[in-house]
Amino acid sequence: MIVVMKADASKDQIAHMTAQVESLGLRAHVIVGTERTVIAAIGVKRDGTKESLAIGEGVAEVVPISAPYKVASLEVKSEKTLVQAGSLRVGGRQIGIIAGPCSVESESQILETAKAVKEAGAHALRGGAFKPRTSPYSFQGMKEEGLKLLDAARQMTGLAVATEVVATEDVELVARYADVLQVGARNMQNYRLLEAVGSVDRAVLLKRGPSATVDELLLAAEYILDRGNGRVILCERGIRTYESHTRFTLPLATVSYLHHKTHLPVVVDPSHGTGHAYMVPDMAAAAIAAGADGLIVEVHPTPETALSDGYQSLTPAAFADMMDRCRKIANAVDRCLEESHNATGG
Ligand code: PEP
Ligand code: MN
Repeated sequence: MIVVMKADASKDQIAHMTAQVESLGLRAHVIVGTERTVIAAIGVKRDGTKESLAIGEGVAEVVPISAPYKVASLEVKSEKTLVQAGSLRVGGRQIGIIAGPCSVESESQILETAKAVKEAGAHALRGGAFKPRTSPYSFQGMKEEGLKLLDAARQMTGLAVATEVVATEDVELVARYADVLQVGARNMQNYRLLEAVGSVDRAVLLKRGPSATVDELLLAAEYILDRGNGRVILCERGIRTYESHTRFTLPLATVSYLHHKTHLPVVVDPSHGTGHAYMVPDMAAAAIAAGADGLIVEVHPTPETALSDGYQSLTPAAFADMMDRCRKIANAVDRCLEESHNATGG
């Protein structure tokens, strides 16, 4: 349920009600909005909980949350969440662009890619160091050595780093190097991993499982939010269907649905969503037109030699073209790829 505080409730009253919620055996999530503060009270309620909270000083009303997910729901927070992680901002007017290779392969590969995507206007560098591969015989990633190369790329370019964590026991290590922890599609319902990334101070990019419903994605996000980490970015990356002309089927209606259900930002992955480099710019443009808050795109200096997902990776030149096109689409829907920095200028 949600304890809605009066617009003029004092800090002491909010703190008192937060303690009240906790004393009833519930977890309190305080959400400060521009007009009012609400306290989401999550957990198993005893009889009379609603009534006892409703008489608290400074309380306007206590209302149930009808959605199965709670903290992720628009019922709890109607203002969009802006997730910031280093140079990446997702959820505001600016569209956040995360670009880079599927896997970190070598120093020259990651540094060259980082430089190219930065020049083309990306805000964050992606690159897997721990790779969840369908086959145990495929390249599994450079692990910590790969994380160190990502760190070097961040130092060279200033780009935030987004990289995947595949196991609970690796969260601390990956969080030492990453600005954004990616939870991959195969791990969307790895609940212990979700709890672990919910307990560290890093933004999380949560990808939809290829056979998960969107409501299951929101419930997965809820695991992270419930641990106190509010910096969650949702990602549509395509689902499994009977269609075979694309690697997965990329449902852009997910963007629209999520914006009607949650305040969390939504990014689209047109690389895994299509599995063909030539389709990526079209779907990137369509995603922005549909209201996506960001994109995550695979880029490789020489896709034909890539150790993973080369067939869906853009060359730096194709990525720069994609960015030019996306910039125009963003402007047409009152968004932008670059926030102008002369807001105070004359
Ligand atoms: C990736 O981003 O390289 C990746 C493995 O993505 P997904 O989890 O969506 O398959
Ligand atoms: Mn990939």
